[in-house]
Formats: sequence, structure tokens, C-alpha cells
Amino acid sequence: MPELPEVETTRRSVAASLEGTTISQVVVERGRMLRRQPNPADFARRLVRRKVHQVGRHGKFLLVTLDTDIIWVTHLGMSGRVSLVASDAPLAAHSNVVVTLDSGIDFRLVDPRTFGFVAAYTPEEFSESSISQLGRDALTDLPRSRRLHDLFAGRSAPIKALLLDQRIIAGLGNIYADETLHRARIGPHRPGGAITLDEAVALRRGIKETLNHALRYGGTSLDDLAYLLPDGRTGEYVNRLRAYGREGERCRRCGGTIVREVIRQRSSFWCPQCQE
Ligand SMILES: [Zn+2]
Repeated sequence: MPELPEVETTRRSVAASLEGTTISQVVVERGRMLRRQPNPADFARRLVRRKVHQVGRHGKFLLVTLDTDIIWVTHLGMSGRVSLVASDAPLAAHSNVVVTLDSGIDFRLVDPRTFGFVAAYTPEEFSESSISQLGRDALTDLPRSRRLHDLFAGRSAPIKALLLDQRIIAGLGNIYADETLHRARIGPHRPGGAITLDEAVALRRGIKETLNHALRYGGTSLDDLAYLLPDGRTGEYVNRLRAYGREGERCRRCGGTIVREVIRQRSSFWCPQCQE
């Protein structure tokens, strides 16, 4: 599932092509992609003939503001990716939403499993959506260590689950939570309330280093190649992963063996030898 580095890579890749252009046409091939839009007919109506002001992001959500007060939301779900191509390029399979710009470029949401969605919200609708419940962004607005420590205090849930909780910090998913915990030398089972202040410092550093490192490589394209950069290239961080997906392989830090365990229904990869 695309996480913060993949969505931020997408944002950086499409921003210059979108900002300042006017949307000329919107085609939704799969109505399911509009299931979060209170009135599905509003989506195209609110986008067409509008100028793109700014391409932003919060957590895993791409947030495009238009010259009106409308916020165009794109979520990549489990298997979505954005393709940025000339409008006359052939339509790839599963191009579920096609937004055509007056510059002759298409923003296409390709999503085989259709867990992603798009919406065009008024500020009021936005404030009533779950997006407004998100915690601070893990890349641009990461809380200080002491604040992180406070957020986890008294929590009995495993730290892995707390890192995935988008209401606490927005942006980490299964891959980057495991990578963060490996960098911070913290085991995924540790209850949030048992995290010391020193460990909160290590966690904060782990989040920053993991996200910035992943961004340098364009994020992670796994074997299914569900996520690709908008120009079709693969995210090369897959070759740099320390824990995620490396069950049975040697820990790059201590030489121990990476194990896979299911914690709260999610696969967790970690090194029992150097993560406590
Ligand atoms: Zn290790």
C-alpha cells in the first residue's frame, strides 16, 4: 500500500504539471471511486473549468486546492498509482479516473483493486471527513520527541500499532513503521506506554531518516509493481529495506535473522537480536 514516501513522490512529480493549469475534462470509469463523495455528480462538476492552485499532501492523502474553495482529494488505497501522460496516450487498464488538463496532459488514477478514492470537497465536507481527524504529518510536521512520548504514554497497544494509527501521526504504513522501528532498535510488540523518552528520541530520528531516505529513492515498488512513479519508473527503495519483506534474511546491522510475525493482523518484520 502506498505510504507517505510514495504519495509525496507522486506529489512532487505532478505538482509542476498541475499547478496553474485548468481542468478541461473529468471522466470517472469506475463509479466506486466516488464512494466518499456525498453527491457523486459533484466530483466532475466541481473540477471542470477550474484552475489548479496547489498540490499538497497530508499523510497518505494527495490534496489539490483549486481556484475555488474546493479540495480535490486523491487516496491511492491498496494498489493505486497516478500516471501522468499525454492526453492522447492509450488508456492503461484500470485507469479509473482521468482528469484532463488544458495543457494536453492527463492525471490518471490507475487502481486495479479500487480501494483508492477521489473526492472534491467543500471546506465544510472536508472538515466532516476522516481526513480532518488525521494526526500531524510525519514528514513536514513531526511532533517533538517529548510530545511523541506523551502521545504514547499510558497506551498498552504495541508501538507498531500506534505508529500505524493515522490519528496519532499521519503517513506511516506497514513498510515504514517496520523500517522506523528497526532504525530505532525498538521491538514492534513494546507497549506504547513502555517507550522511554530516549526511545522517543530514537523513534523520531528513525521516522525522519526512514522517510527522507525512502524519498531519495522514489519510494518502494514491491514485486507486484502496483506503485510506480507517475512517469512509470519503479521506486527503488525496495533494494534498501532493512526489515520489511526480509523474513529469514540477515539483519544488515547485527547479522541476526529477520523474522515475520503477525501483530494485530498486520505482518511485522523485525530483528529480535538488535530490537528490544
Ligand atoms: Zn539486528
